Amino acid sequence: MPNTPAPTPQKKLRVGWFTFSCCEDSTVIFTELMNDRWQTWKKLIDFRHARVLQSNNVLDHMDVAFIEGALNTPSHVEKAKEIRKLATMVVAIGACACTGLPSTQRNTFTPEQQEAIKPLVEKFDFLPKGQKLAEAITVDAMVPGCPMDEKKFLAILDLALKKFGIVA
Ligand code: SF4
Repeated sequence: MPNTPAPTPQKKLRVGWFTFSCCEDSTVIFTELMNDRWQTWKKLIDFRHARVLQSNNVLDHMDVAFIEGALNTPSHVEKAKEIRKLATMVVAIGACACTGLPSTQRNTFTPEQQEAIKPLVEKFDFLPKGQKLAEAITVDAMVPGCPMDEKKFLAILDLALKKFGIVA
């Protein structure tokens, strides 16, 4: 009897979800969206890196990297650049990643306020100014909102599933 060829595993969208300086409310929205979508997403998405979902994460090639939060330290900038190298598409998630605010509110402080926070800026090795994501790397798409607009997030995810040939 001839061997039946093993079914080709379905191609999945390789996704990373990353968080820098922020309150992580968009991550909360993202996990809330899974209440109704997990069964579908697990067939379509390979979460390469998403600390909120799993303890085993790898930093390798991603079709899409979703990045939440602003960049406040040199190590944030370095990590964002590393993610950029590995991801075909980078999506800024939420106002902090898209515009810097509110996480980079210290940029707007008066000289007296800057002086008052100087010990903390030094202690935590902060950059002189916090940065939105696009100040460090090229951003391909943005999901605005504080927290993120979930309809826009879902629209970009749908777009990515089509763009990378996961769904027709
Ligand atoms: S955009 Fe708003 S909800 Fe998102 S991390 Fe920043 S402060 Fe939090």
